[in-house]
Amino acid sequence: MPIIVAMDGPSGAGKSSTSKAVAERAGWNYLDTGALYRGATWLAVKQNLVEASEIISALEKDPLKFNSDPKNPSLKCGTIDITEEIRSELITAQVSTFAAMPELRKFLVTLQRKIIDGAPRGIVVEGRDIGTVVAPNAQLKVYLTADLAARAKRREAELNADKDLKESLAIRDEKDSTRTASPLERAVDAIEIDSTEISLEETVDQI
Ligand code: C5P
Repeated sequence: MPIIVAMDGPSGAGKSSTSKAVAERAGWNYLDTGALYRGATWLAVKQNLVEASEIISALEKDPLKFNSDPKNPSLKCGTIDITEEIRSELITAQVSTFAAMPELRKFLVTLQRKIIDGAPRGIVVEGRDIGTVVAPNAQLKVYLTADLAARAKRREAELNADKDLKESLAIRDEKDSTRTASPLERAVDAIEIDSTEISLEETVDQI
């Protein structure tokens, strides 16, 4: 088993940049589990699927393939590269609905564990339920947070958005934290880092 760093927290807290930077420094792999939920949502939207069982069948035909290199993470569904498309507003607005489906989560957690087991040395895994459900035995669990305003500002800069993303971020947080199946939750043994006032480099240094 590789060494596992679990990185959980709400949207826009800086999990992706932090996880990739930690993995790069350590020479380890990186897994963005949110990308897999986004990939499943992309396929569901594209094929007009609503039931978890239909989405799972479609994913068995066109599997999600995540490239775990922190320098160049990418996602394919079947033969199509969907790295960019899964970041669209449409997918972002829908993903939390699909991510609340227990059957689909179970299917994607199995895939996540396979990717983790395949890492040769270590892996930094980011998501919402990594420390609690996906890898409860992770050697280090980080719960990364930041104020809503700071998170919205970062997302806006990242996406070059000209509108206020506070509301859509708050809606997604609410959905992710209140669902029955593996809600966003800080593991009891996770260290909490609030990145509102500290830079990416300082966060990475702490970890
Ligand atoms: O991390 P990102 O914002 O790309 O995740 C997109 C969505 O995927 C989240 O809002 C959440 O609904 C879902 N997700 C999840 N569990 C994870 C990772 C992401 O439910 N481990």
